[in-house]
Amino acid sequence: MNIGPALPSERVDMDLQAIVDDIVRELEPRLGEGKVADYIPELARIDPKQFGIAITTVEGQTYKAGDADAAFSIQSISKVFMLTLALGKAGEGVWNRVGREPSGSAFNSIVQLEHEHGIPRNPFINAGAIVVADMVLAGHAPREAIGEYLRFMRYVADDETLSIDEKVAQSEQKTGYRNFALANFMRGFGNLHHPVEHVLGVYFHQCALALSCVQLSHAGLYLAHRGTNPLTGFSVVSPKRARRINALMMMCGHYDGSGDFAFHVGLPGKSGVGGGILAVAPGKASIAVWSPGLNKVGNSALGSVALEMLATKTGWSVFGT
Ligand code: GLN
Repeated sequence: MNIGPALPSERVDMDLQAIVDDIVRELEPRLGEGKVADYIPELARIDPKQFGIAITTVEGQTYKAGDADAAFSIQSISKVFMLTLALGKAGEGVWNRVGREPSGSAFNSIVQLEHEHGIPRNPFINAGAIVVADMVLAGHAPREAIGEYLRFMRYVADDETLSIDEKVAQSEQKTGYRNFALANFMRGFGNLHHPVEHVLGVYFHQCALALSCVQLSHAGLYLAHRGTNPLTGFSVVSPKRARRINALMMMCGHYDGSGDFAFHVGLPGKSGVGGGILAVAPGKASIAVWSPGLNKVGNSALGSVALEMLATKTGWSVFGT
């Protein structure tokens, strides 16, 4: 039976280097689009005219273009890695304190929390991530929990040079009024077990991790390869857990822009207000893009466009080619 030409995802000859080079070339005239996050003073100083992309395949090849080696603040992308840590620590008990449904609200929204008795909708909005930070903090001083996170990130990325940008963490510590409000509110409902200052100390430091696109694409590889980093052979989570984290990224990774991201890109992804996005093509590759200008819902404007271009050029959408 003739089933027609090979689907793009079946192409073995796909030239990923040419694809990332093309994306950088096509986006060049649009550099600077969007608005840099300015509610964190340290992030407001970043030059918006930057764009980087890196793809690391499950076979272990990395393809990069543009500012792929420049370090940026991963911000909310850290929520994926902290959830991975919390699941390792508390197992399914995580889901007693945070939900798994898309919120349809902004990342820093407080409106649903009162109706839902201090149980955040999902681990990727700020309220949910603050509860997850509280879980990772259990049994530790804040400094130890931050150390555990940093060690974990160095392990998954197989890179001992990763570090936290203390200036960014301090900048948010001084101005993160909404996060203090969310945390105090949840503490009032009994869904934070540690002092608000300690939990937010952990949360602001996890967000302030600085990674390049290349490093981030390495760090996310376990999600594309059934829970194991194929470069190192390090096992991070079970295949089932990797699949579930991907499902959450698809449904909740872009806040009230998650539907749009699924519609245009069709890959599990997690954004951060530093302008980065981690996307996962299961069984194929881990992809990181970065451009500091954000769209209206706080996701990288050009990063989202770049991933749509990539999904179109590769046929990597999980919904079909
Ligand atoms: N640290 C940021 C905040 O809490 C993270 C938000 C984000 O990246 N969407 O506001």
